[in-house]
Amino acid sequence: MITAVMPTYGRKDVVFERGEGSYLYAADGRRYVDFTSGIAVNALGHCHPYLVKALAEQGAKLWHTSNLFRIGNGEKLAKRLTEVSFADTMFFCNSGAEAIEGGIKLIRKYQYMNGQPKRYKLICFQAAFHGRLLNALSATGNEKYLEGFGPPAPGYLHAPLNNTNVVRDMVDDETAGILVEPIQGEGGIRATTTQFLKDLRAICDEYGLLLFYDEIHTGFGRTGKMWGYDWSGVKPDVAAIAKGMGGGFPIGAFMATEKAAVGMVPGTHGSTYGGNPLATGVANAVLDVLLAPGFIDGVRERGEYLKGELEKLCKKHPKVFVEQRGTGFLQGIRCVPPAGEMVDKLQSLGMLVPPAGENVIRIFPALVADKAILDEGVAILEKAALSFEAASK
Ligand SMILES: *Cc1c(COP(=O)(O)O)cnc(C)c1O
Repeated sequence: MITAVMPTYGRKDVVFERGEGSYLYAADGRRYVDFTSGIAVNALGHCHPYLVKALAEQGAKLWHTSNLFRIGNGEKLAKRLTEVSFADTMFFCNSGAEAIEGGIKLIRKYQYMNGQPKRYKLICFQAAFHGRLLNALSATGNEKYLEGFGPPAPGYLHAPLNNTNVVRDMVDDETAGILVEPIQGEGGIRATTTQFLKDLRAICDEYGLLLFYDEIHTGFGRTGKMWGYDWSGVKPDVAAIAKGMGGGFPIGAFMATEKAAVGMVPGTHGSTYGGNPLATGVANAVLDVLLAPGFIDGVRERGEYLKGELEKLCKKHPKVFVEQRGTGFLQGIRCVPPAGEMVDKLQSLGMLVPPAGENVIRIFPALVADKAILDEGVAILEKAALSFEAASK
């Protein structure tokens, strides 16, 4: 008999009852070090007191009014985010895939407004992940996710990452833009090079295309800077954000320069829930913590420390761990045993991590995780390595 919750996930058989900082507590009382962070969503860990207070206060005041009226919290949030990014304007939605699809609409409309209505195609990348809606899925570079869902939406091409020549060859008179993750997350923590992003910027400028970053995974301090693109300094025209934005409350946005957003006039896009007072109230509280002086610098410093520890672990256990990948608190380790087996082993030892492509396990501590928690996690990784080594003898 089908489960009441549609069985689209292979879920681990554990139910959590409570979370506190970097720890999750299961119904049976067991405590886990949580380096999944809700897949990079729980930026400030579980039940951060400041967020709990903001949620309760806003919850007692006003939840939802619709976008027929001005929303003070949303206006404040948008203004703050434009001040700390390349963007001049943004549209609030409820998830990452919605942010991607909104960005795609904006890009096509930009071309249309500039007398190029035939330009609708996006150049995307192999192993990219952009979400599960039908267009976002077509932009995603993984055919397995599309199987059985009819023909892919037209206009999404996939180039190998970090190969400028292939991208350049793909541009034709129907190309509207280029969509790229500064660091691929689901794909296996695969980073773009600064030179590649500079090349994409140059291609876009040369041909009148818009550069669209998927910052859903990499935004909000995850890499040790506010945005993934801050590492390269190469600015996009459009970006999609979500995940860490609400610290666990569902909210996303697509943001753009004024020039790129030229076509997004009244009536061109909408969302019933998008940017409601409750969601944007919580997101403002997340920003209060993230933007406090020194907070993201601390993530970067502890990220360097974590990176060093993971590199040491790989050196010490080459038969289990192949290599460290990533930056800040967006880290991963490529494994020798199947990543799924490693995830299960770690769970049995009291630590939670998500798998990714290329046989990588992702290491996503909450941005508030201190050195003691990082050490606790690294010690569990080492225990797992010893256990795999013992089993292969
Ligand atoms: C998670 C993710 C998405 C999809 O976000 P949803 O909220 O699940 O729709 C898109 N792009 C990237 C890079 C992601 O990590």
